[in-house]
Amino acid sequence: MLDTSLELSSTKHDNPNIKKIYGQFKSEISEELEKFHVPSKQNSMRTKQLWNWTFLGGVTEFSEINNMPKELLNQLSKNYTLSRNSIAKEQKSNDGTMKWLIDLESENNSTNNQIETVFIPEEKRGTLCISSQIGCTLNCTFCHTGTQKLVRNLTAAEIVSQLLIAKDRLNDWHKNNPNNVRKITNVVMMGMGEPLYNFEAVKKALQIMTDFDGLALSKRRITLSTSGIVPYIERVGNEIGVSLAVSLHAAKDEIRDILVPINKKYPLRELINACENYPRIKNSSKITFEYVMLKDINDSLEDAKDLIKILSNIPSKINLIPFNPWPGSNYMCSDMKKIREFAKVLLDAGFSSPIRKPRGQDILAACGQLKSETIRLKIKK
Ligand code: SF4
Repeated sequence: MLDTSLELSSTKHDNPNIKKIYGQFKSEISEELEKFHVPSKQNSMRTKQLWNWTFLGGVTEFSEINNMPKELLNQLSKNYTLSRNSIAKEQKSNDGTMKWLIDLESENNSTNNQIETVFIPEEKRGTLCISSQIGCTLNCTFCHTGTQKLVRNLTAAEIVSQLLIAKDRLNDWHKNNPNNVRKITNVVMMGMGEPLYNFEAVKKALQIMTDFDGLALSKRRITLSTSGIVPYIERVGNEIGVSLAVSLHAAKDEIRDILVPINKKYPLRELINACENYPRIKNSSKITFEYVMLKDINDSLEDAKDLIKILSNIPSKINLIPFNPWPGSNYMCSDMKKIREFAKVLLDAGFSSPIRKPRGQDILAACGQLKSETIRLKIKK
């Protein structure tokens, strides 16, 4: 590990009546400005200015805005804030992966109100992995977050805030990058939680992130990952329009029922049918299927052939993920030789099947690990 973990403190804004500007649509800000008696001719200009300062300038205080009337900024600051959620811990791996443990607002300052956000830099892109819930209800047996009870859904502002925090820490604001070379190029909703069990907030957050006047992230560069909440899959395509990833991990119900227990409610037949009808497939966008490689559980060549069979009608990319063991887990990672053989069977059948390079292992980058470690240390003290 290059960097030992760094404890950070930042201002907390715990007043629940103070709203975050970056959790609002432009239309909501515009309505608010009307209430502050901004003349209607100026309303659209002022809304855009505020939106630009927030999402291109990366300001955290209204006092940093220098082209809007002071009185209006004063009024805004009584009802809104630009401040982020606080970072409880920041870690940097020797492979450049960064991980933040973020404190969310809570009534009792519980350590249970923390989420994780991870930045993974690669040669040609930088991916930010964002959480949608504190904990999770789904108990996937290979997933560390699955051992943490659901505390609550995140708000749209808390989801957007993770991107702003990462941009702050990576100095990734437009004003500092005149050539617009962004460090964060891709966003994946693959952190803690099942995004489709927090559909409305996730939808709003992603719509804010893709708004052309603000962060303007391309929908093609955002991937929403689900464990297979079938009734929402079509809505993701129609209402959000981002790329879809499915945590598949098995091609037979009897194995998937154990690895991803929500499979008992939405079995493979229904899930695959929803994927075959995913609206973006018509634009020849591939669906990514995540497949964690677990020794002697789902890694036989027979399993690979079953996978080919069930995905035969879906333009697919299959990400093979070597299992990253966590304390107390019951699984082991498949041998590398076996993973390569598995990948070759898929490749020979025409599927793109990259083997994911483990990242950030020295900083507990597997989802949910940093939070558990922090709670464990606090209990020990
Ligand atoms: S894999 Fe995703 S849905 Fe399953 S327990 Fe982990 S966070 Fe929840």
